[in-house]
Amino acid sequence: MRILVSGGAGYIGSHTTLQLIASGHDAVIVDDFSRSKRSVVPRLEALAGRSIEVREVDLTHVPATEALVADGGFEAVIHFAGLKAVGESVEKPIEYYSNNLGSTLSLLAAMRRHGVPKFVFSSSATVYGENASVPMKEEFPTSATNPYGWTKVMQEQILRDAAVADPSLRVALLRYFNPVGAHASGTIGEDPSGIPNNLMPLIAQVAVGRRQKLLIYGDDYPTPDGTGRRDYLHVEDLAAGHVAALDRLGTAPGVSTWNLGTGTPTSVKEMVDAFARACGHELPVEIAPRRPGDVAESYADPSRAEAELGWRAGRTIDQMCVDTWRWQSNNPDGYPA
Ligand code: UDP
Repeated sequence: MRILVSGGAGYIGSHTTLQLIASGHDAVIVDDFSRSKRSVVPRLEALAGRSIEVREVDLTHVPATEALVADGGFEAVIHFAGLKAVGESVEKPIEYYSNNLGSTLSLLAAMRRHGVPKFVFSSSATVYGENASVPMKEEFPTSATNPYGWTKVMQEQILRDAAVADPSLRVALLRYFNPVGAHASGTIGEDPSGIPNNLMPLIAQVAVGRRQKLLIYGDDYPTPDGTGRRDYLHVEDLAAGHVAALDRLGTAPGVSTWNLGTGTPTSVKEMVDAFARACGHELPVEIAPRRPGDVAESYADPSRAEAELGWRAGRTIDQMCVDTWRWQSNNPDGYPA
């Protein structure tokens, strides 16, 4: 299949692009490089052993997206591109809604015009909102607590409505839990722009000496060690989930929703300890107040993806830390400009 990978230069997009190529697909990256670096591309090409077509397009630009899809010959779009910082979304809601919803809308319009039938969407466990019980199941109601989360809820709804109106459209809504880790080569990985928001890149930057210490946001949660528990999954397992979902869309009509997680929660303290084992030294931490909006626990019921996709996230927390450390220690400042 010839597949358009939006945000293919980003963290999850880059790992997925490689696995698509390894599975025999022809992946074309479209990225505006607003939050990713061009220098990821030669690294991907080295790992893939072939050149990769890259198009620089702002997907909120309707005519540019139309032109991209019109002459692309694509059978599927995997849509990773989007803004994803929760705190920033509270400061800049209009930018978040117009960017995240705008890109999905212009892609869908272009796909309809040119008969592209498959859409795989990067959704998030954030759509379960703050009052969901654990483990989280796909049939739970959706809601959000910040503009970023609402863009995911709304994009899911847009895709469901589009599929009702156009029975030839096949959609996978992939609800990611907490992706971490890096490619085993240590040459591609997560390189957040600015101050990271997520636990793993923060731990990695502390370990490599870019930051002084890790703040642990709350140790008084109703969890075994008092720190928040999340469902971390290796980005290589997550990438494999996209390949499996794409294959499954060959036979699944309409909209399919799949949680992508391990089903097993890990606490902040457990993650810090695992990372210390991986990097070989203790990490300075300080207990801080809870972060507003955080829940005590979030983890998937991944049984639907297991049953329907034959997919499981099998890599361990130790593997996630070892691979993150290889990437971070080889690239302490991330990708070159
Ligand atoms: N966390 C923390 N310190 C940080 C960043 C995150 O203690 O500097 C905790 C956070 O409270 C949560 C877990 O790490 O319990 C995962 O946070 P992240 O932002 O990575 O994911 P999310 O909360 O969105 O699932």
